[in-house]
Amino acid sequence: RHPRIPLPVDLYGEHRRNSRGINFAWEQAIATLAEQMEEAGRGSWNFAGAGAESHEDLSSPANLADRTGRVDWCDPEAASTAVGRALAAQPDWDRRGAAERAGILEAIAESLEDNRAELMALCAREAGKTLPDGIAEVREAADFCRYYARQARDHLAGAIELPGPTGESNQLRHHGRGVFVCISPWNFPLAIFTGQVVAALVAGNSVIAKPAEQTPLIALRALELMHRAGVPRDVLIGMPGAGALGAALTQDPRISGVAFTGSTDTARIINRTLAERDGALATLIAETGGQNAMIVDSSALPEQVVRDVISSAFHSAGQRCSALRILCLQSDIADRVLTMLAGAMREVRVGPPGLLGTDVGPVVDSAQLEMLQAHCRRMDDQARLIARAPLPDGLPDGYWFAPSAYEISGIDQLEGEIFGPVLHVVRYRARDIDRIIDQINATGYGLTLGVHSRIDQVQQYVAGRVKVGNAYVNRNMTGAVVGVQPFGGEGLSGTGPKAGGPQYLFRFTTERTRTVNT
Ligand code: GLU
Repeated sequence: RHPRIPLPVDLYGEHRRNSRGINFAWEQAIATLAEQMEEAGRGSWNFAGAGAESHEDLSSPANLADRTGRVDWCDPEAASTAVGRALAAQPDWDRRGAAERAGILEAIAESLEDNRAELMALCAREAGKTLPDGIAEVREAADFCRYYARQARDHLAGAIELPGPTGESNQLRHHGRGVFVCISPWNFPLAIFTGQVVAALVAGNSVIAKPAEQTPLIALRALELMHRAGVPRDVLIGMPGAGALGAALTQDPRISGVAFTGSTDTARIINRTLAERDGALATLIAETGGQNAMIVDSSALPEQVVRDVISSAFHSAGQRCSALRILCLQSDIADRVLTMLAGAMREVRVGPPGLLGTDVGPVVDSAQLEMLQAHCRRMDDQARLIARAPLPDGLPDGYWFAPSAYEISGIDQLEGEIFGPVLHVVRYRARDIDRIIDQINATGYGLTLGVHSRIDQVQQYVAGRVKVGNAYVNRNMTGAVVGVQPFGGEGLSGTGPKAGGPQYLFRFTTERTRTVNT
């Protein structure tokens, strides 16, 4: 445990760029945090899931020689016992009431912040997350706890009195649905893992959490903190394992719902499994991919556009569902923006995630790296390379990939979401704006959109016509803040309701009304 370092400003906030004083405070705070991380992040972490069978040594994507820890994997056969335990524990947990559970979420938030340096170190070593991304992970995880705690107190605790004739009382109450399976992604190994789990818990469910195979250690460490904060062991069961384990869990007729963040294809499989199995009709809450565009008209400020493109397309190694993939530039401004973008990309620093100066860390694993390399080979043949960020010499053996930008002939040249730091640029003429909007909508995804324009009507028109869950005008298009920009999309991008939004918890509950003839 280290003294908590107050961070003066938001990660990508304006203050950091605009004010020398605050900038200095930021540098000081982050340098102290980096020292704490260094100390808290030595050694390795070892965890076993419930009913674990085989173990594996895990190494860092930023340095394959660095052994991050060991995880004991759960076999699919362990699923049934875990579901039985969670099922037996749920009624008591539900009876404790939303207000008591909210108190536990607040204690989890405290504990996450108390252990920030260690969690950031884990994010850097296990997931290759940079310092700013590690700070953002812990902050978002704690935000989810506090936000859902407040929502639960306000909307789930106690009964809602309903009208009725004289002599009759009518009340509506929210209860947990039963056992929720939470299947979380590697790209937000702490924040999304925590968000799903605590939402399901505070609503009165017991939870079986299956973290992504790439990042079980962060998840299991967070889970340990949740248990210490007061969540009973059978109410929250961690099961690291492969896809077959996820299949076994979702096939179990005793589960009541699944919260999933990951690919659209996997969400479809889960949906099918839930539909075809026996047992209760289960809820699926899925947050999936995006094919996110930014539309820039000729009134935009090129410097601001370039800054926001670099952050939206390349920071976090482009490994966000919200990241920018297709930059649509009005032809009058395109050459200017592209020249500046190429210059800015030469300054992007790819490197070890724990260093203060690093902008972009490694990608998460060899499969991602190979997918990105194969995509770039195809782009090298079919598109024009605008720029590629330099890869410095002497990087440790790891999954390094140079952020790249290509000009393509049209949006239809792309076959699907490319999850990583590759930007695709198309030009459009002012009179073709509707055609570009139609093409973006035709991808079927609907997650994020960026608009850069100084003309109000253009901002309103574009943001109104592109069907997305999160539209951002004249700023970057990643980093949704809990309770401020509830996050989630439509179409191929997910089912809703939005994470960190006012409707989210209700989907984890069932409503019961009670009528008493008094
Ligand atoms: N909420 C994140 C953001 O706004 C993205 C989440 C994801 O990649 O799944 O950038």
